[in-house]
Amino acid sequence: MVYYSEKQAPRQMSAASRWLDVSVPIRDGMVHWPDNPPVRLVRTLDMTKGDVCTVSMLSLGVHTGTHVDAPVHFVQHGAGIDALSIDNLIGSAQVIQIHHSKMITVEEIRRRRIRAGSRVLFKTQNSLCRWRGDAFAPDYIYLSRDAARFLIMRRVRTVGIDYLSIGSMDDGLETHREILEAGICIIEGLNLASVTEGAYDLVCLPLKIQDGDGAPARVVLRPRS
Ligand SMILES: [Zn+2]
Repeated sequence: MVYYSEKQAPRQMSAASRWLDVSVPIRDGMVHWPDNPPVRLVRTLDMTKGDVCTVSMLSLGVHTGTHVDAPVHFVQHGAGIDALSIDNLIGSAQVIQIHHSKMITVEEIRRRRIRAGSRVLFKTQNSLCRWRGDAFAPDYIYLSRDAARFLIMRRVRTVGIDYLSIGSMDDGLETHREILEAGICIIEGLNLASVTEGAYDLVCLPLKIQDGDGAPARVVLRPRS
């Protein structure tokens, strides 16, 4: 174990302190996709009640909060979350502000410089208002089918969105399937309220769940200078 003196610690932290956490906190009773399991987080041992230590039990669907979808979520015999290339989830990324109030349209993103191999995170009005409270927001802003096909044609590496599904309530299954079949990684459930449009370094690490169809992830962004 390494201990730092009080003088050493701030110096070690200084240059790296610009990382912004864009993950949603996991908490008991939090919002989840309508037919997914509820989230339970309870203390089974509690020092404030006289136990020797504090231990919690966590029960949740793997598509809870900020998470990554694996191909097997919608593609039969597709890869599990443990087989995803981590290179898709670590590296340079682009946050794009979306102004449309209902969906991400191909017209809006066509004008942006989206290159092959890029990691694209869409910041919509979801980040500002859909995460308030624990109720599911069915009117969330989603990626339209046309916009998904545009991203597939552009051969992006990763696409992220700031609510629980990349696709709509109506045809989101097809949106997922087309993106995953194209080998593009999907990050869902981001909260991008604290970041503005621009270039970032991205670190997204989903839990290594064997053959998992998805996994909760901690996601952080650092502005690129
Ligand atoms: Zn998902």
